Amino acid sequence: MLILGHAGITALVASMLFLPALAAIFGALLPDIIDKGLFLIGWFPCTRFLAHTIFFFPIAGLATYAITRNKKVAVAVSLGVIFHLIEDLNSDIPLFYPFKQYSFIDTCAFGIQLTPYIVISEIIGGLLLIYIFGFSKRFLNFRSKFWKYFRRRFSE
Ligand SMILES: [Zn+2]
Repeated sequence: MLILGHAGITALVASMLFLPALAAIFGALLPDIIDKGLFLIGWFPCTRFLAHTIFFFPIAGLATYAITRNKKVAVAVSLGVIFHLIEDLNSDIPLFYPFKQYSFIDTCAFGIQLTPYIVISEIIGGLLLIYIFGFSKRFLNFRSKFWKYFRRRFSE
């Protein structure tokens, strides 16, 4: 998944949970910013490396809290990282590195393949961003209706 797919889906989930969407988007892009960035300057062996492990989201959350002292922002960043990993599960990611070895790390290359999955998730992500930020009143209206319906369903 590329930028819009990660950003849009994570912004939707965070906003539905009353978490700051921009912090969640930052978290959703963070694994690629770190791993692809450090790969490009030659420090990391692969475009999906330490920031694509299961150990990164608590670290990202704690570091965010240390900097911002804001629990909601920290949870939103962690959530963004978790969703990034879930959305990347269709490709090779080193979830339990360094406790498990992954052979793809050594043959890793930087390349974007426009598969139908990527194209469709980019379109959906872009539309979600437009809906959440461009039509925010409609979105907030949808959110309150959604939770009202949800509460009615589960309080019976
Ligand atoms: Zn990724």
